[in-house]
Amino acid sequence: MILANYHTHTTRCKHAVGTEREYIETAISEGFKILGFSDHTPQPYPEGFTSGIRMDMSELSDYTDTLVKLRDEYKNDIQILIGYEVEYTKKYFEPLLTELRKYPLDYIIQGQHYVEDEVDGFYAGAKTDSEERLKAYVDHTIEGMKTGLFTYLAHPDLIHYTGPDDIYLRHMSRLVREAVDLNIPLEINVYGFVDHRWYPCDRFFKMAAAYSPRFVIGCDAHTPKIIRQPEHIEGFEEFLIRNGIECGDNILDTVKV
Ligand SMILES: [Zn+2]
Ligand SMILES: [Zn+2]
Repeated sequence: MILANYHTHTTRCKHAVGTEREYIETAISEGFKILGFSDHTPQPYPEGFTSGIRMDMSELSDYTDTLVKLRDEYKNDIQILIGYEVEYTKKYFEPLLTELRKYPLDYIIQGQHYVEDEVDGFYAGAKTDSEERLKAYVDHTIEGMKTGLFTYLAHPDLIHYTGPDDIYLRHMSRLVREAVDLNIPLEINVYGFVDHRWYPCDRFFKMAAAYSPRFVIGCDAHTPKIIRQPEHIEGFEEFLIRNGIECGDNILDTVKV
């Protein structure tokens, strides 16, 4: 039984459904003791560039105010944490942190959807057989990990590389070895699993397990009903077993930002 989920979205990201209260009540009914919200962080992009998958900078106060109130209301039932899923970028990371730190903030997780950023880069989830893109994803993700500010790495296998296993594993094993050295847990993404996406994938996790990194299960909830115990997710425990992954109670020490 897992007791914590640190990967939860809200409707502010424009592609999630349900109220914060519904996410919280689902988590309580499934036996969770900690629920961390980590909506897609806004980004201080240039004037005129609007992202379709994240809140605006102007929504930070509503996001945190809402969660602070609920954190208090539910404090006897569950611990609510306030965080974000953050793209590491060279250009925007520091100014972003300056903004996030003005509001209540418990932790951030790294979700590397773009390399090097959404404005000028490529989407990591687009199918590619380019070794150059694979390498760029790994290099850039490692650079983010090395900031030491991320509590964990979400969907490490988001890069949708369709080329040969030997090339894939050569690059992705670097990412895993860094995670071990830096002691950063790697997420097994429940949303991708339930949605039958290309991640979490066997070829990544079988390789990763051999290095014995820390693993964390992340619901990546874009809908309340996905906050579930692993045994309530069809096929998920088999996925863990066949890849040699053991998970404990899923509780992490969050990294102070
Ligand atoms: Zn999302
Ligand atoms: Zn997410």
